[in-house]
Amino acid sequence: DSSDVEDYEMTNFFQPHGKNKAELVRKATELLKARKTLPVFQHKDQILHYIEENQVTVIIGETGSGKSTQIPQFLMPNSKKQIAVTQPRRVAAVSLAARVSEEYGCSLGSEVGYQVRFSNVSHPKVTKMKYLTDGMLLREIMIDQELKKYSTIVIDEAHERTILTDLIIGFLKQIVLSKKRPDLKIIVMSATLNAELFSRFFNHAPILYIEGKTYPVSKYYLPEKVEDLVDTMIRTILHVNMTEPEGDLLCFLPGQEEIDNCVSVLNQIGQQLPKDMPSIVALPLYAALNSAQQSAIFQKVPHGKRKVIIATNVAETSITVSGVKYVIDSGLRKVKAWRHQLGLSTLLTTPISQASAKQRAGRAGRECPGKVFRLYSEDVFLKQLPKEQEPEIVRNDIILPVLTLKKLGIDDLLTWSWLEHPGEQSIISALSTLYTLGALNDNGEVTALGQKISVLPLPPQLSVVLLHAFENGVLGPVIDIASCLSVDNLILNVSGNNAELRDDVNFRRQSYSLMGTSMGDLMSLYEFFSHFKELIKKKDSSEAKSWCKELFFSFRGFKNALKIRTQLKEYMLFGIKQDSWLKPHEKEQHMRNLRVQVEGDSISNDTALSDDELTDTGSPKRSVDTSLVLKSFLKGYLTNTAIGMPDRSYRICTTGMPISIHPSSMLFGKSGIDAIMYLEYVYTSKSYARNCSAVKLEWLQEVSPNLLAQSKESIGD
Ligand code: ADP
Repeated sequence: DSSDVEDYEMTNFFQPHGKNKAELVRKATELLKARKTLPVFQHKDQILHYIEENQVTVIIGETGSGKSTQIPQFLMPNSKKQIAVTQPRRVAAVSLAARVSEEYGCSLGSEVGYQVRFSNVSHPKVTKMKYLTDGMLLREIMIDQELKKYSTIVIDEAHERTILTDLIIGFLKQIVLSKKRPDLKIIVMSATLNAELFSRFFNHAPILYIEGKTYPVSKYYLPEKVEDLVDTMIRTILHVNMTEPEGDLLCFLPGQEEIDNCVSVLNQIGQQLPKDMPSIVALPLYAALNSAQQSAIFQKVPHGKRKVIIATNVAETSITVSGVKYVIDSGLRKVKAWRHQLGLSTLLTTPISQASAKQRAGRAGRECPGKVFRLYSEDVFLKQLPKEQEPEIVRNDIILPVLTLKKLGIDDLLTWSWLEHPGEQSIISALSTLYTLGALNDNGEVTALGQKISVLPLPPQLSVVLLHAFENGVLGPVIDIASCLSVDNLILNVSGNNAELRDDVNFRRQSYSLMGTSMGDLMSLYEFFSHFKELIKKKDSSEAKSWCKELFFSFRGFKNALKIRTQLKEYMLFGIKQDSWLKPHEKEQHMRNLRVQVEGDSISNDTALSDDELTDTGSPKRSVDTSLVLKSFLKGYLTNTAIGMPDRSYRICTTGMPISIHPSSMLFGKSGIDAIMYLEYVYTSKSYARNCSAVKLEWLQEVSPNLLAQSKESIGD
């Protein structure tokens, strides 16, 4: 019930840092000048009029015209309830909230706040406007289908067509149709012209076009296909730096790894450029950055230096940085794609659409004429790039969305108010996964387990793991592992070309991973993290830092894992509180039990372990039942298992297809393993299993008697 939710939010209430009001107001007054020049600001009255007159308004405006920052602010003075502004990406939600709180003259987390996974910087009573990820709003819909605490829902970046945005739009339509909230205002904002879809969906809602000023952008292509993308990017950046007059660069690469590589090379070269050339300040921009790194991109660089922002797709429409005159476009992006035949979702690098390429180019022409350098040929642009990006719902995993809809009592999923239908096959595959996980019963009804999964904001597989771990009494170590899994790039790759260093690091890692060496990567994570937690207890963090450095672990990553660990613990407590299947005394008992499992271990109470409780390597001696930990994981990743063959190869249980252990795994090159469970599938030259654990055939038999029978059939043994 709602009091539980408020309790929960209160625990995360953000303490504003000590800026005084006068200082905040001074800053806001200063920013007002720039705000007034934004196209949206100049149409304020007209925009307010449209919103006043209509329940649903579609607003289209060039990226950077001020939609996300200004329109919600216009509504604040007259809004009796909260205003929610959804963002597909957490990085954008955080950055917008920070900016708008400054413009509004309040501290972040007071009148203006944000809520993203693992971090709620808002106050249930004080906050008037909240930027939140679409996933967070969807959770609120689950708790209250009429969204009673909001006066206005603004769907931003609707053109991105993420699954969650699509679902929210579907629900908003239900609210409109039900006529239960005639006072609820709905604003759909998009950066691209093809917004007719939204208008049509909402019974021909009016579309408001906001003209922004744009300048011409000249286009340059490469004649042929690029061999090494990062290398070509760096060369092009240096070329632009050498030949083009003043102005900053915005470069698009597909993912974090390429970006980090590119930034580190540039920052090295950038120091050694000839005197007559501007020196380069290279800055990364992707979702996993912390807020200090994010705000770095907005800062001006000293005269005579050139800012080079290397970004993922996030800079295509979500985040606008002024001063950009040159864009370099790799023509690629990473998308999460669902492969029906594999039953796994993977991150794939794919070509962008023509529409995206145009958006990216447009970033160079916001303040004056600019240039775009496309790292592909004009022929590729015209003949190979699709006109539009496929909406996510058509290519992705819809397990959680399907569970959400099921839970909300929508039985006929095939005919629900989908903004765009995901296709029968996706729906059926999601239903079948939910059934395998035990979230749906034989009649297709949501089970008690399914109820629990649906309130946890985690991939359903991981939720299942945590819930079983709780039953098995191993929630502590499993939460530790899950926290590490939720951090990107925790265990860093040792540079591929330096085999000697790689072997050396692997060897050193093994000495901190006694269980992991035989049981695989999940147990290694547990051991590494346990060791880290011991080190970080000390007053001085330098030992933890140098340990991370020595073993190629991300110190920041582990610190983040600590935060996530606290959050997961809270989510589990929250899940129990929300669990309508439990009687009050059972809830209490469960919560006590949970605290014992999670806090009973040494980490969260600050009393350090005495020496005789520690082993030589400093990790806690208290033994963990590895089999219970791995069996808990098996409950969630049952279909990600493969049986060992006599020749050391593996065959996927469900399909019989061959798969190999990835060289990055602790289990690489080991023999005598019955079967493996893996959390990730990558396909390069062949199929690889990443993040592997050794599991016993008896466990598979125990966890799912059908699976082994099925695998015998598919492997043909
Ligand atoms: P739109 O939603 O139409 O793309 P925005 O409202 O996001 O436009 O951006 C309006 C202006 O505010 C842009 O010029 C952008 O550079 C600026 N801006 C947005 N966020 C920040 C921030 N965190 N720091 C500095 N400037 C920002």
